[in-house]
Amino acid sequence: MTREYLNYINGEWVASKGNEYRENYNPATGELLGKATQSTADDVSYSVSMAKLAQREWRNVPAPKRGEILMKIGDLLKRDKERLAKILTEEMGKVIVEARGEVQEAIDMAYYMAGEGRRLVGQTTPSELPNKHAMSMRVPVGIVGIITPWNFPIAIASWKMFPALVSGNTVVWKPASDTPALATKFMKIIEEAGVPKGVVNLVHGSGSVVGEAIVDHPDVGVVSFTGSTEVGSELASKASKKLKKVSLEMGGKNAIIVMEDADIELALEGILWSAFGTSGQRCTACSRLIVHKSIKEKLTERLVAKAKELILGNGLNEKVQVGPVINENALKQIKKYVEIGKQEGATLLIGGEREHIDLLKDGYYFQPTIFTDVDPSMRIFKEEIFGPVLSIIEVNSLDEAIDINNNTVYGLSSSIYTADVNAAFRAMRDLQSGIVYINAGTIGAEIHLPFGGMKQTGNGHRDSGLAALDVCTEWKSVYVDY
Ligand code: NAP
Repeated sequence: MTREYLNYINGEWVASKGNEYRENYNPATGELLGKATQSTADDVSYSVSMAKLAQREWRNVPAPKRGEILMKIGDLLKRDKERLAKILTEEMGKVIVEARGEVQEAIDMAYYMAGEGRRLVGQTTPSELPNKHAMSMRVPVGIVGIITPWNFPIAIASWKMFPALVSGNTVVWKPASDTPALATKFMKIIEEAGVPKGVVNLVHGSGSVVGEAIVDHPDVGVVSFTGSTEVGSELASKASKKLKKVSLEMGGKNAIIVMEDADIELALEGILWSAFGTSGQRCTACSRLIVHKSIKEKLTERLVAKAKELILGNGLNEKVQVGPVINENALKQIKKYVEIGKQEGATLLIGGEREHIDLLKDGYYFQPTIFTDVDPSMRIFKEEIFGPVLSIIEVNSLDEAIDINNNTVYGLSSSIYTADVNAAFRAMRDLQSGIVYINAGTIGAEIHLPFGGMKQTGNGHRDSGLAALDVCTEWKSVYVDY
């Protein structure tokens, strides 16, 4: 029986009156999983009006009580962790161990932000005048519009939603069209936790209809978006005409630097998982490997050998290390870049083709792919491919490695492997990325630190960490004469 994914608006599960549905498929098998109601701008408008009504009460619920509800959400996510992870793997293909890790991030975020309910600190400052009290406090923006991608469908939604809720906002959430099942299960947990009706509203549908309607709506105070640079920049230009606040987390072209004194075995592990984990479909995935000339040959040889051993398949099988990519379009896009790389003169060392796995003929698998002889003029060096494609670039010095790392419009995550503490500190200071790793791959974030990128990866905001509160709150200064 085909599952049906409905909207959750003002505490009720409802289909859009438009009566249109979009089917979603398991990328590992091609199996039909279900169909989601496709909402209209009217559905968005109705959710916003319900969110507005609910916000009047929610903003006055004491913050520690709002935090307690988040604590309950954390408990329920923990209870259902395995089920959520299984849905995640079935729906977007990441291997089950990664799916469990992602659900854990949502759990951690719930507990972390629950604690914020007892802090949400403001400032009191001495006044310049006698008999005057001066202070500033965070106040909610009002309604937060949340638009999320398919590659981290629960972690990113929770990074955005929990700070919004604890600080007194209500939410209208549009998940990615490819991940309606996970969104529905997450919403059921939020409902079970006792979040009052209208406080969180889930609206399924396409980006061009539902997403745009959220951005356009005058009562949505801030839009928090994670996705491609292409969509994010369009959305930002529309929002700017209305002077609407937008938080953008977008693409990346992340690099790992390996210096001549690095622990090669350690580096190999980090490179392998950063490049090919989640089939290279993490915003923080490593797509550029910058290697010191003196170790390039040895490292490349070992890396190719290890990449050949990776087990591709359905991520529900615990032995599988690399799952499918999200859909047919992604396969085409990745293949297109492989051809571009070859035409540009890069040398293909391994992969470059769709992988057909017996019994899973309809799955969207792409072979782990490595190019060498890549230089900064090439499109495969510059553009986000969002698949398991790694480019190797040779350098002669740390200065050159840092320059090459920074030679991109993006600035999400970078890493360096070195035994030299001076080189590590130089890199920490000079790598132009929102996240820097020393002797670790470019992936794996902890929720209590800000997450996001510099340059064209974002617009200065951060998800998770305390910085996430800046997206969904305003500072109000108050002077009291007595
Ligand atoms: P996407 O195509 O930009 O979609 C992201 C979200 O925006 C989806 O919910 C999408 O809806 C919606 N959308 C599409 N068109 C829209 C429009 N005109 N107005 C408003 N919303 C619209 O990105 P994706 O393919 O899901 O995700 C992959 C990208 O996300 C990669 O570039 C990756 O680097 C980036 N990413 C960045 C971070 C970060 O923190 N920096 C984290 C994860 C992913 P539909 O699904 O209905 O199209």
